Amino acid sequence: MLQTLIDSKSSVFKPLLSKIRGVHQNILTKECVFRGVGVHSGEEVEMKVSPSLKEGYTFIRSDICENNEIDGVFFNVTSTMMSTALENTWGAQIKTVEHILAALYGLHIYNAEISISGPEIPIMDGSSFEFVEVLKKCMKPVWLGYASPKIFKVTKPVRVESKTGYAEFLPSKKRTFDVLFDFAGNFSGTPYEGSFYFDLENDSFESLLSDARTFGLYDDAKKLQDMGLAKGASLKNTVIIKDSNVMNEDGLRSQDEMIRHKVLDAIGDIALCGGIIQGSYKAYNPGHDLNNKLLHAYFKSL
Ligand SMILES: [Zn+2]
Repeated sequence: MLQTLIDSKSSVFKPLLSKIRGVHQNILTKECVFRGVGVHSGEEVEMKVSPSLKEGYTFIRSDICENNEIDGVFFNVTSTMMSTALENTWGAQIKTVEHILAALYGLHIYNAEISISGPEIPIMDGSSFEFVEVLKKCMKPVWLGYASPKIFKVTKPVRVESKTGYAEFLPSKKRTFDVLFDFAGNFSGTPYEGSFYFDLENDSFESLLSDARTFGLYDDAKKLQDMGLAKGASLKNTVIIKDSNVMNEDGLRSQDEMIRHKVLDAIGDIALCGGIIQGSYKAYNPGHDLNNKLLHAYFKSL
């Protein structure tokens, strides 16, 4: 009876399901297809996100015939320059995984196969919005114990630092993300510095974070394009800042859009833990590198 009600997506039973399981979980019910260009490669790709019986996230390079499976776990991360890239032992690589992973993790979908016809996840509008809009129509909550993700409890503080910031896990009954951001000092004193707090179990990823776009400084974007990177970047998929001014014609979607995007990125990077981290994430000026180092430090501390 309860199972039937949960399957009918009754919102009344969602909190009950969450209470019983401790975490709230959805599974995909059908394949979702996305098309777009990679922000760094500029290559047009097709991506299919499907239900998976395998634990966690599995990436498949459908344009490669053999040894094309890449497990979506932190120890397969081989580059954190501008985005997070994964690679298997045979050298098959997949870049910019963080926005689709943030969408899946933010929607509490912990098992999925992500098949892609090229080396980079499509950038779409620079956020997770389009992924969430499609995925939420193709998922359902599941019953206790079904394909449950592993839960990793944070029992003591674990912290990693960079020259401009830090990231840490702290023991907590909640699963929260708390980010303070001033773009390594570049945004100090501008309206864009600030903080954002997100509770993964109780706040809505869809309404609070999913549409926050990636961003960069105009001078950096020019340098990256000269280096052959950011080939697919444009004002359609990236917020560009020049002399503390937003160059995009329609401006920002919210004044703290860039901080929200930092939270989105952190969720996507932490999704590579291979399950669920039970604890709070706190960071000052985080980036893909710090997030990956934090996962390494946490698992080393167990
Ligand atoms: Zn991002």
